[in-house]
Amino acid sequence: MPGFEIFGAEEKKEVQDVLDNGVLMRYGFDAMRNGHHKALELERDLAERMQTKYAQVVSSGTAALTVALACAEIGAGDEVIMPTFTFVASFEAILSVGATPVLCDIDDTLTLAPKAVEAAITKKTKAVMPVHMCGSMADLKALKAICDTHKLVLLEDACQAIGGTYDGKPLGSYGDLGCFSFDYVKTVTCGEGGGIITNSEIYADRAHKYQDHGHDHVGNDRGAETHPFLGYNYRLSELNAAVGIAQLRKLNDTLAQQKKHYTILRNALTPLPEVTFRRVPETGVESYAFLNIFLPNEDLARKAHKALGSHGIDACFYWFDNNWHYYKKWEHLLEQKSLGALSPEIQSGLQKNKRSFDASDAWIGRTISCLIKLSWTEAEVHERASKMVEAIRSVL
Ligand SMILES: *Cc1c(COP(=O)(O)O)cnc(C)c1O
Repeated sequence: MPGFEIFGAEEKKEVQDVLDNGVLMRYGFDAMRNGHHKALELERDLAERMQTKYAQVVSSGTAALTVALACAEIGAGDEVIMPTFTFVASFEAILSVGATPVLCDIDDTLTLAPKAVEAAITKKTKAVMPVHMCGSMADLKALKAICDTHKLVLLEDACQAIGGTYDGKPLGSYGDLGCFSFDYVKTVTCGEGGGIITNSEIYADRAHKYQDHGHDHVGNDRGAETHPFLGYNYRLSELNAAVGIAQLRKLNDTLAQQKKHYTILRNALTPLPEVTFRRVPETGVESYAFLNIFLPNEDLARKAHKALGSHGIDACFYWFDNNWHYYKKWEHLLEQKSLGALSPEIQSGLQKNKRSFDASDAWIGRTISCLIKLSWTEAEVHERASKMVEAIRSVL
């Protein structure tokens, strides 16, 4: 997955363009910038690659989620349904617009379980935020049907699955809004950065304003621009955008490489009857950023994970004990360890999340996810595959 593995001359050239004229900001300074508009160019490329009408780049994936929620007019008093298995950015973004994150169970797709989503809907629910974790996607058709019935916004977090598709559409483009992260460990990296895609002209118009203090971007005198509504600063710098342009151009090659490595590993593990694979919803195509396997139970999963480590297999994750990605360790959220006071509404809303999620525990307790790297040679992947089989066999 990590795009940093393929950082090279192409990225340097794009950055050099920016260094040559010194305009590090995306707006203004037209006379100095020698025709270079890197953020704008990245937005055009992203919209084209993701087959959406609009794209907005911002300073991080977390910022992308925040801006997307703001564009959908989500704020105080609103609830957003999110999965128990995700990155902490999901609830951070929801809280940052003043709304309440509502945790919801996952299923064998390792993403939101549609039935659990339905059960979590209240009068306050405004949006459903599936997170396409570890290279594969949520059951978007089912989630969209639920959102249509209840008039909810479908916001896809595709930060870990860029390049995957569902029903022939790039992940992120199926819902009302889709978000990507371009942080340093993501498939496409800018160093730090993020992107929002949408086909909605209204959302796109709000997005460019909101991420730049509410500026209307009319005319070419920044100081004279009006502010139709409040915003913040989530702008991406030209230096970061430049890296992203070169990285995004490499995405198709990256996906092919991920698929090749993933397939070798998966084929090696398939003969083991105790190993099963994460379910990919019908019509879905993974980005192959991770290979996700289930062991028959938690005990064997823990042992297998340990054995993988002792056999020298790095970058395999047992999320059940993970601080960043699973609700059990989100103590700061569940205990409401906020620097300033949270609103009374959020305080009581968060109380509802202080429970166990048995269906999620049952799946995550059995899951091991192995990162697919781009820099492995074919011989290294084959060696890795046989070591993985050996490690897992040793605990069965
Ligand atoms: C990385 C990530 C984010 C946040 O991205 P940043 O750019 O690091 O802020 C959000 N959601 C998921 C699922 C991620 O993996």
